[in-house]
Amino acid sequence: MAEAALQSGRDPKEIRLVAAAKMNDAAAVQDAIAAGVDAVGENRVQELLTKHGQGAYVGVPLHFIGHLQTNKIRQIVGVCDLIESVDSLRQIEMIGKRAAALEIVQDILVEVNIGREPGKAGVFAEALDELLGKAGETPGVRVKGLMAIPPYVENPADSRPYFDAMYQLFVDMTEKKYDNISMHFLSMGMSDSFAEAIKAGANMVRIGTAIFGARRYHREIG
Ligand SMILES: *Cc1c(COP(=O)(O)O)cnc(C)c1O
Repeated sequence: MAEAALQSGRDPKEIRLVAAAKMNDAAAVQDAIAAGVDAVGENRVQELLTKHGQGAYVGVPLHFIGHLQTNKIRQIVGVCDLIESVDSLRQIEMIGKRAAALEIVQDILVEVNIGREPGKAGVFAEALDELLGKAGETPGVRVKGLMAIPPYVENPADSRPYFDAMYQLFVDMTEKKYDNISMHFLSMGMSDSFAEAIKAGANMVRIGTAIFGARRYHREIG
């Protein structure tokens, strides 16, 4: 990460490392925190709540990075410091309602389907402007930036056009200066692609395998 930051003329300290902890238990998560990750991200609500109850995330902010089902939203608002995978006005309104009931403001990122993949989470780029405008008017919610999971490619270098497109969107949306929105974070890049993402302008990467090793899918947590 530091190498990629320096190569692109940026300060390594400005890039946040989110450990993508799915399928790794609370002890492994605590090891990652002790080793210095900046935050932990989880994909599944039940797994997150179980590990939260075990104290897995003590010491760093907790992010939700998985597919956001509307019927689970109320369980994570206020528990997560940042919900990275928000992609509809309906979700934003539900988060705002729950946050208002808790008398908090929930930080979120808006997920963009930058590869325009059918059936994949995220808004299309052309829908972002309207969604951000409405999010800025929704009490209880504060947009802090954008997140993307580009299409899978064999060669990480082939992700670069998607990362570049995301950075351009991030710059464009920052310049629009929406009410109540501060574009701090651009979350993109995973184990195989984080260097490309950082070089393109990411300041938050989500890394699982390169921290924890390969996931053992036969083991269910939570
Ligand atoms: C699992 C996951 C990651 C990390 O993937 P790795 O390839 O294991 O680094 C990043 N982002 C999201 C949304 C994930 O679900």
